This record gives sequence, structure tokens and C-alpha cells, in this order.
Amino acid sequence: MKISFHGADRGVTGSCHLVECGGKRTLIDCGLFQGEHELSEENTAPFGFEASQIDFVLLTHAHLDHCGRLPLLVKRGFRGEIIATSATRELARVVMLDAGHLQEEEAEYQGRKAARHGKHSAPQALYTKLDALNTLEYFGRTASYGQRMEVAPGLHATFLDAGHILGSASLYLQLEENERSSSVAFSGDLGNSGRALLRDPVAPPRADAVVLETTYGDRLHKPLQPSVEELYQAIADTYKRGGNVVIPTFALERAQELLYYLRVGVESGRLPRAAQIFLDSPMAISATEIFKHHPECYDAETAELFRDGKDPFALPSLRFTRESADSIAINRIESGAIILAGSGMATGGRVRHHLKHNLWRQDSSVIFVGFAAQGTLARQIIDGAKTVKLFGEDIQVRAHISTINGFSAHADRDELLAWHRQVGAPRTFLVHGDEAVMREFAKRLANTQVEMPQQGQSFEL
Ligand SMILES: [Zn+2]
Repeated sequence: MKISFHGADRGVTGSCHLVECGGKRTLIDCGLFQGEHELSEENTAPFGFEASQIDFVLLTHAHLDHCGRLPLLVKRGFRGEIIATSATRELARVVMLDAGHLQEEEAEYQGRKAARHGKHSAPQALYTKLDALNTLEYFGRTASYGQRMEVAPGLHATFLDAGHILGSASLYLQLEENERSSSVAFSGDLGNSGRALLRDPVAPPRADAVVLETTYGDRLHKPLQPSVEELYQAIADTYKRGGNVVIPTFALERAQELLYYLRVGVESGRLPRAAQIFLDSPMAISATEIFKHHPECYDAETAELFRDGKDPFALPSLRFTRESADSIAINRIESGAIILAGSGMATGGRVRHHLKHNLWRQDSSVIFVGFAAQGTLARQIIDGAKTVKLFGEDIQVRAHISTINGFSAHADRDELLAWHRQVGAPRTFLVHGDEAVMREFAKRLANTQVEMPQQGQSFEL
């Protein structure tokens, strides 16, 4: 029985862990490394194992940094079975197809650039939309929360609600080999308790070892309710000034959460009924539709809404703008529009057009509700840039800028510690965090032997 680490080791992206037991090789996630651009060397490098030798992939959730190398795994010879919850499977489809599309675009762009520099070797896409489509054929059995399943003889898996995004799971694996047994829990990404729509994370039973994410292992989140109030206030102020509101939005959970709170705001009279709200992101629109098919994933409050025949995302004047012509038409609205568009860090996507049309206007506002990495357009604006470059133009930043921090999809330090205490494992592997954060977090763990694996490192279980 062995575990080895092939991504998200002393870093936050590229999650990929390998468990070997009873002659079967099982991956937990196969995520993309995400950095400056997605053709990075880490993604093109060998996995550290033979793709064709992998029997199973247990997928914790549909974020790109957990499922984004699956098409590459298939391209390199994987012919086994991918197991996930039904919501994860549907979301992963959207995410992987989008990634294949972006990879093709990036390769084309790099190819044109190389040609301008007189080079002839055009770079290959990491994988294509077709590779992503092929990957869907390897999704086999569907996992249900809380039900122990026999993945293979000597390997049982239980998927437990991780409360992070729709369909997300933590895993509890029970292993048997040569009359020996062992158990290992994988946190996946853990959600923040008490949020709208999703249930709180469920901790696995006591395990011999635990593999734990540490994204926010060094900080505590601001409470949610004041953040919701801040959102309403920022929108109400913009209405008084007569401008528009632009909210750069992550497609998979944040967009649905915002729609939920906007609906509550309109129903409670905190926001004007006449607010024209646009969800201007094809991926977020697909994810919202998928959300409606999965009542098994909701928290009690949201489930009740659905039972009463209400749609938690239905707003009187909400419009889904899938086509780009509809997206462009939004630019003609001068006042009273609330525009939710991707990408969340404004590094690409339709939100850049909306920023171009609103950033220079004193009466408009831009509200950031998510993480903004160094070097991104979102970070420049948050840090107070006076002008930013968009589509080759220098655009003045005169709009009201707000940053609201209470909407995190990740557990904070104390929630991670509480989850870890419940699992009570004598051995802990920390992953999915920056090294400095992990070191701080490790100091707070008691009664457990802590490892911070390096990429490629393996351990006996
Ligand atoms: Zn995630």
C-alpha cells in the first residue's frame, strides 16, 4: 500500500495523488497547474506515472485545478474508469470542454507569434476539445454521498459532501492488501460553513492517514452576513449615482451564490425591483442550469425553496446572455445594470469589455467578490491603479471600486483544524497550499505526524 504525490505539492494547483493497493492504481484528481498561462512546463511534463497503468480516477470536484489534466491523461493512454458524483460529472464536462477550447486558442496565438518571429515550429495545444470529449467516455459509475462503494476488491471509497462547490466531495478510502488494512481520508477542497445553497462539509470517520488541503491554512474569513450587506449597499449607492455595477465572477459557485443573494436582496426590498441583472458568462449559465438538476446537493433552506416550486435564482429581470451579440448589447445600457461576468480575476472573458465601458465612469462601480492573484487586472484595480490597459487602450479608473471578502468557497484555518480533529488521523499529508502557509498551519496540528510531500515523493501506507 503506497501513496505518491503528483501535483498541488507545496503549491495550490495541479491536484493529483496516486494510491496503489492490491495491484490497482487509483488517482485522486488529475488537475491542471494554473499559472501565468496554461501551456506551462509543469502541465506538459510527464505525470510521474504511466497514464496507461492507472485503473481508476476518483474525482473530488469539477474545478480545473482538480479535473483539468484528465483529457491529457486520456490522451496519454488512460483507459480506466473515472468515478465522481453526478453533479461533478456534469460540471467537469463543461469545465474540460472550455479548457480544451482555451488550450486550442492559446496554441493558435503562440503559433502566430512564433511565425511573426520567423520560427516554424508551431506549439501544440496541451489538449483539444476533442480530447476533452473523449474523456467523457471514461466516466463510469456515479458516486452518491455517504454510500460506501467497492471500487475494486480491497478498495472501498465513500464520497462525503465537502461543501465547496456543487457536487464536491471528500473521500474516505478503505484499503486491504495481504490481510492488512488501512484507511486514508482526502479532504478534496473543503467549503466554508454556513454559506447559501450548499451544505456544510461532512468529516469522514477516523482514518489512519489524511491528505488535507491548506489553501487558507493561515487566515480566518470575514463573516458572510456583513459581506452581503456591503454588496447591497454598494449596489444601492451605484443606483443613486445612476451608473452600472460590474461584478467579475467565477462561474462555478460564486455566480450562483450571487444570484441567490441578489434575489434575496430584491425580495427583501434592499435592492430595487427594477434592477436589470445580467449573467453574462456561458459557463456560469451552464453551471446554473446544472445546479437546478441536482436537488441532492442543496442545503435545507434551498431544498425547501425548490420544494415550494420556487427557483432560488429567479429574479424579476434577470437575463442570461449566452450569445456574444447579447453581451455586446449590454454596453448600450447607461444606468441600472448589474453585470455578472467572467473571468473572476478579469484576466480574460467578457468582463473585460464591461470594464472598458464602465471603469472610466464616476457613477459606475466595480465590485470584487473573489480572490485576485498578483499580476492580474483585478489585482491592479484593487491596488488602486489610476489607469489600466484594456484592448490596447489606456482606460482611466474613476468608477467606485469595492472589495468584499466574505464570500470564500474555502474553509478557513479554524474550519480546516476542526475537520482535521474529527478525522483524528495519526498521519497527515498537507497539500494544496503555499509552502509558507503549510508551515504555519502545521504548527497548530497536534497528535499527528505531519508530512509536506514534494512532487513525486511516495510513502508506504
Ligand atoms: Zn476547488
